Amino acid sequence: MNKIEHIGIAVKSLEEAIPRYELLLKTPCYKTEKVESEQVNTAFFRVGESKIELLESADPTGVIAKFIEKRGEGLHHTAYDVTNIEAEMSRLKEAGFVLLNETPKKGADNKLVCFVHPKHTNGVLIELCQEIR
Ligand code: ZN
Repeated sequence: MNKIEHIGIAVKSLEEAIPRYELLLKTPCYKTEKVESEQVNTAFFRVGESKIELLESADPTGVIAKFIEKRGEGLHHTAYDVTNIEAEMSRLKEAGFVLLNETPKKGADNKLVCFVHPKHTNGVLIELCQEIR
């Protein structure tokens, strides 16, 4: 894996969280995007080579809403940049990790993504992402 591409943080309200993170990171939010497949609204910030992704549920029964209900706002996932997502997926699968999707899917910020179940990664949801060129 090449680097930490971004860290995903679950928030109740982007409207409230975006100005706070702009102040914290001293950089403007450069993109907001709704990911239809996940029913989630996202906002991105650049921090050096990595990014922060804020995630707000676009649906009261969506995955982010359920996550916040159970665990509160906070760290949702860490995302790693990979060169060949399919190769990484088969490598991890062979090593016994559980993939949450069997084929790469279209994620936010022009990426192909795959999620790895947190039960084999010490409680942290992992996202693999490969830039779509
Ligand atoms: Zn992400």
